[in-house]
Amino acid sequence: MQRVICAILPKLHHRENEKGAHVNQIYLSLGSNLGDRFMNLERAVLGLNQFCLLTAVSPVYQTSPWGVTEQPAFLNLCAAATTNETPHGLLTHLKYLEAALGRQVTYTWGPRVIDIDILFYNDWIIHDERLTIPHPHLAERAFVLVPLADIAPTLRHPQLGLTIAQLRQQVDSSDVTPFAETPLQLAWEN
Ligand code: ADP
Ligand code: MG
Repeated sequence: MQRVICAILPKLHHRENEKGAHVNQIYLSLGSNLGDRFMNLERAVLGLNQFCLLTAVSPVYQTSPWGVTEQPAFLNLCAAATTNETPHGLLTHLKYLEAALGRQVTYTWGPRVIDIDILFYNDWIIHDERLTIPHPHLAERAFVLVPLADIAPTLRHPQLGLTIAQLRQQVDSSDVTPFAETPLQLAWEN
């Protein structure tokens, strides 16, 4: 049922988009290590269509947990989109979407049904109590850089001055293994 509801959202969204372009380019990182991890990612990508226009979704990778290592392996992907939301408005939408998909508040870097982080918002640099953009850990996380390099290799980090392809070369990605091809095209090809 949820899948059907989500599947019609892109159409509504596209109609809305004809009136005004989505001006802000964003990149997101999605991860899940609880329950049906692949389905959680699928639902999250579909849900993004309520406030973003997806332009690319990476393949899915399986990765060892980062930070707190005594927990199940993650599935991760990255997505590119445009949006009219402000950065803080986008974060609010993402937190609602995480909650709607069953995310419980646990502890930092703990297991989660779904985690959606904002990696980049245009080339903006933001640092306040709610939001840090570019995401502060992205340059050290192979589980972000590997899928992001699939969809945005030439994107340049506005603070580090390096491209995603260059950053990806600098991390050990031996723990990040392909899990599935881009599974979620329903969300943006309909
Ligand atoms: P984490 O993703 O670090 O494991 P959470 O998803 O629980 O942890 O996020 C904790 C808080 O991080 C969020 O409530 C949000 O306010 C903040 N935050 C800061 N910068 C970002 C960002 N770029 N993307 C997503 N959340 C962010
Ligand atoms: Mg998060």
